[in-house]
Amino acid sequence: MQQKKVHIMTFGCQMNVSDSEKIVALLRTIDYESVPSIAEADLVIVNTCSVRAKAEERIYGILLTMKGELKRRPNLLIGVGGCVAQQEGARLLQKIPHLSFVFGTHNLHLLPQMVRQAEAGKRTSETAFIDDDSRFDLFPDYDGGSGITRAVTIMQGCDNYCSYCIVPYVRGREVSRQKADILEEIRKAAAAGVKEVTLLGQNVNSYGTRGGGGADFAGLIRDVAKIAGIKRIRFMTSHPKDMSAPLMECYADVEKLCSHIHLPVQSGSNRILELMNRGYTRSAYIAKIEQLKSIRPDILVTSDIIVGFPGETDEDFQESLSLMSEVGYADTYSFVYSPRPETKAATLPDTTSKVEKSERLKRLFALQKSLTRSLQSDYVGRCLEVLVEGVGKKEGQIYGRTSGNRTVNFSGSSALIGTLQRPRIIKNLQNSLLGELE
Ligand code: SAM
Ligand code: SF4
Repeated sequence: MQQKKVHIMTFGCQMNVSDSEKIVALLRTIDYESVPSIAEADLVIVNTCSVRAKAEERIYGILLTMKGELKRRPNLLIGVGGCVAQQEGARLLQKIPHLSFVFGTHNLHLLPQMVRQAEAGKRTSETAFIDDDSRFDLFPDYDGGSGITRAVTIMQGCDNYCSYCIVPYVRGREVSRQKADILEEIRKAAAAGVKEVTLLGQNVNSYGTRGGGGADFAGLIRDVAKIAGIKRIRFMTSHPKDMSAPLMECYADVEKLCSHIHLPVQSGSNRILELMNRGYTRSAYIAKIEQLKSIRPDILVTSDIIVGFPGETDEDFQESLSLMSEVGYADTYSFVYSPRPETKAATLPDTTSKVEKSERLKRLFALQKSLTRSLQSDYVGRCLEVLVEGVGKKEGQIYGRTSGNRTVNFSGSSALIGTLQRPRIIKNLQNSLLGELE
């Protein structure tokens, strides 16, 4: 049979990027190869995000524009997966008549048969949740792949129910993957040349709470560190309330654990943190950061912050700004609050104007810019260890990241890809650093 072609469009978080990799592997089993453009494809899969309304609207826009492509090529198949698919299910097939199939966040493994049905002209939707760790056994094994860095899913779902967040509704209950399976995947990745792994999940530091065979996150990190060939370990995303003492201790003696933590705070105001159902106070958050910095003085902290949560006053917002300066974040990913279906916050009265919210976002961006600038300026003149990941955009340059997750470009041979180098930082370029090998 002639090989068919699939083009995958991925939106949203790392979890979706990782799911898209699994989709490629699953479709390979029915002879579909991945291609970089819609024009070449027999099948287009849109892997969607619904964490904010804008992300969701963008998906509808993209699906509508595909109508034109379908006029030219009526046999083109279009499937929708990810969080919007989970949220809308079969309703999407009614809303968008040119869609071929809809698959939810727990139904990737059904894709081969859904694609075959679509080829035969049958439209299907599958969005049932699988509520235990058997869901991890439904995907193909690690199939090599290329690259120096790799994200490895260690858990799925979330039980935290932050009041603004749709994730628990579209990703289901939190379930951890068996530790032995995770370690096996990382061993195979290391054998294929991967040097850095990012342990991935919505709330990784509660790993082992449900599923995982009695393992805990700190123990998992220690076991990953024993795998030969793996030089660096990162994780994403962790929750401040689950920053346990054993996890902090890993920063004292697991050298492979990178000096970076993404620890989203969401707000600096205790009143808003409570309304958000985050489970910690501003001072408890800061105490954890201080403890981390005392264990690993060079650790860089990044965060997510929401502005304009219902009822956020200017004083509340000022507390977010002051917390940013107090922590000295290396980066923050900031968003204007977006009401999401089913969430508790969507029922709260919201009196802050759109203009005020975007004004707050601008102030936050400006503060972060100056924090990043001053933090990176301190690196100029120093030699930093960089894991080389690939060739840079400029001729003759290679790039990589520091342990603190700052990107460094410097002149060097592509033969250095996959090695640790210590370029001297010669310039702070705000979004990256420029270095040179001595
Ligand atoms: N599990 C992670 C955590 O607890 O931080 C992150 C998951 S969420 C997909 C990524 C970020 O999106 C959150 O940290 C939050 O800042 C933002 N976010 C989630 N829901 C939002 C909403 N309704 N409006 C604006 N931002 C939102
Ligand atoms: Fe959403 Fe909160 Fe879960 Fe993160 S921890 S995915 S913000 S509910």
